[in-house]
Parts: sequence; structure tokens; C-alpha cells
Amino acid sequence: MHDTPPDTTGTVEHHSPGARAPYERAPDEKVNWRSSIPFLLVHVLAVAGPFVFGVSWKAVVVFLVMVWGREWFITAGYHRYFAHRSYKTNRAFQLLLAVGGASCAQKGPLWWAGHHRDHHRYSDTEADIHSPLRGFWWSHVGWILCDKYNEVPHERIKDFAKYPELRFVDKWNGLFPWLAGIAAYLYAGWSGLFFGFFLGTVVLWHNTFFVNSLAHVMGRRRYVTEDTSRNSWFIAVTTLGEGWHNNHHYYQASARNGFFWWELDVTYYVLKVLSWFGVVRDLKVPTAEILAANRVKDGNFDIGTFKAHWAHASAAVARSHASLGARVAESKAHAVEALAERRETLHERREALEHAIEARKQALDEFVQGSMASAEDLARVTRRGNRELGLLDQ
Ligand SMILES: [Zn+2]
Ligand SMILES: [Zn+2]
Repeated sequence: MHDTPPDTTGTVEHHSPGARAPYERAPDEKVNWRSSIPFLLVHVLAVAGPFVFGVSWKAVVVFLVMVWGREWFITAGYHRYFAHRSYKTNRAFQLLLAVGGASCAQKGPLWWAGHHRDHHRYSDTEADIHSPLRGFWWSHVGWILCDKYNEVPHERIKDFAKYPELRFVDKWNGLFPWLAGIAAYLYAGWSGLFFGFFLGTVVLWHNTFFVNSLAHVMGRRRYVTEDTSRNSWFIAVTTLGEGWHNNHHYYQASARNGFFWWELDVTYYVLKVLSWFGVVRDLKVPTAEILAANRVKDGNFDIGTFKAHWAHASAAVARSHASLGARVAESKAHAVEALAERRETLHERREALEHAIEARKQALDEFVQGSMASAEDLARVTRRGNRELGLLDQ
């Protein structure tokens, strides 16, 4: 699955954000429409299906399970366990987390968690796989619909890639959404399949993608981090607690993203309950000192916001620089053209002048020649007259 038509931006900066003409995409950063067909088709089925097959109560149950039941495996499993190792568990439950996550049609746990580690490693730099500084659409689905990140980044996820059962789930991840779809159909029929499974999958996808896109654009920043992450209660509600994204970027090792009691974090509540039964253990949470430090409101320099503004400003400067260059080149071309025209006119005028001079010279020559002829005639006449006078004298 992967990238992008023009949208808010439609663009990618390849160097430090803004350093070069922004918004050009490398070939492997463009939407691969062919491989994106299943992704697009699920959207069509999700929207059209319920009109054809209706919406039963059982289908509503399937929908809720498909969105928030499965989402827990993304947030608690793919994200907080595989990507961030924020708690420990046994090998069987680890496998269950992998299978539950794979049923969400977001590829395998090794692929997902490996790339997510890169997001934290390079947040909002050119190496960030889905920074919204490259455009909202890019951070939302563009990076998934292109070919650039198809491969599993094995070197980033060696700690889990050593388990053969996880490698199996990762390799055959496409199987698990099918099982979820079949289960939806068996339980609630066609309505369960289209409204429950397909629409549930679409909502689940965009819920997850909003954490990469919206949670870096919408909401407030409590902690100073080097990225653009924000805390949004809205995204926290829809994603079982992942909306406290600024908290998360600040202290990514935490199993709890809602740092305070009023910050709803269903993912953590479920983990906490599971810890009472010994299913999971060693849930990491930030200390009171960590919670109190690096607050934006305490006047700490917010480098993340500064960097984002800087990137936007330098992109704008690069753009105006490019358009100024184009304007200079254009007026230069005009000047050269005008000069050439002027030279041509001068040349024509000079030729005309030369012709005129030549004509006058010729006329003068003719006049002189004529005068000479007349003078000679006069002399001849005079000489003859003289001779005749002489003859008379003689
Ligand atoms: Zn993030
Ligand atoms: Zn994370």
C-alpha cells in the first residue's frame, strides 16, 4: 500500500526540510496505484456495501470490535510493545499481540514496529518516514502507498526478528485480515462483512494514520521535544490513548501515554488490568521528576516548534528565490531580444544611408562628368572661334 495525489502539499523535501526546491517526489515516493488497489477497493466496499446489505445490530457489534477491539492490538501490541518495549510479557501473549495486530491489515509487526522506530529516531528530519513537514497527505497515507518503505527494516527490529513465529506472522500477515473478514461474515452475514469488517477496517486505518499526521499538527505541546508532536484529546479518544502524542515523543519508553488521570488512555488501563493477572509485567511509566521537567510553559526553548517554523520559512525563501531567479532570467531574455531588434534596425538604417550616399555620389559624379563635357565643348568652341579669328587676322 502506498502514496499520493496532490493535496495540501503533495510534496517532499529531500534535504533538511526546506533546503531545496520543496515538493518534488522521487519515483519511489509516488503512489504505486497498482499495489494500492486493495487499499482503495476496501474503501469503495466500505462505503457502498452498507447501502446494499444494510446495517444490522450484529454488524454494529462487529464494527465496534473491528475498530476498537483490533485497535488495542495496534496500540498496545505493535506500538507500545514491539516498537517501544514499554512492558514485558510471555512468548505466547507476544504471539497473540502479533496476530491481533496483523489482523488489522497494517502489515506485519516487524515491518510496522521497525519503521516506527525510525519515526522516533529521525522525527521531523529528512529521514523521518512520515513527517507532516513533507505534507499532511504524505504523513497520513502517502508514505504507505509508495514503494519506498515496502521492505521490513530488519536491522531496526533484530530483538523481535529472532523469534521464528513472529517472522512467520510478519511474512504471512496478509492472511490474518482475511480470517477477521471471514469471522465477521460468519457471525453477522453480509452486513457484518461490509459494515462491520470493511468499514471497520477503513475507520481503523485512518484512526491509526491520524496519529502520524494529525497528532503532529493538531493539539497542544506540553513538553519540549525536537519534533512537532502534539497532545490531542480527540485523537486520544478515537485511538485508545495514542493522542497524547507529545507526551509519547517526550518519553517514548512509557507504557502509558496519558500521563495524568484526566488524560484518557484505554490502552494503558487494559494493560494495567492484564498486569494484575500476570499476563504482562514491568510496565514502564515516567517518574514525577520526568513529568515535571521540560515543560513548554516553564519557558523552555521549544526547539521542535522552532525547527518546524524554520523549515517552513526556509522552504518559502527557497520558493521565492526560485521564482526571483525565473523572473531575472525572463527579463534578461527580453533585454537580449530587444537589443537584437535594435541592432537589426540600426543595420537597416545604415544600409539605407549608405545607399543614399552612394546615390548622391553617383549623381555628383554624373554632374561633374556632365560639367567636364560641357567645359570641353566650351573649350572646343573657343578654340575654333580663336582659329577663325586668327584666320581673319591673317
Ligand atoms: Zn510521532
Ligand atoms: Zn511511538
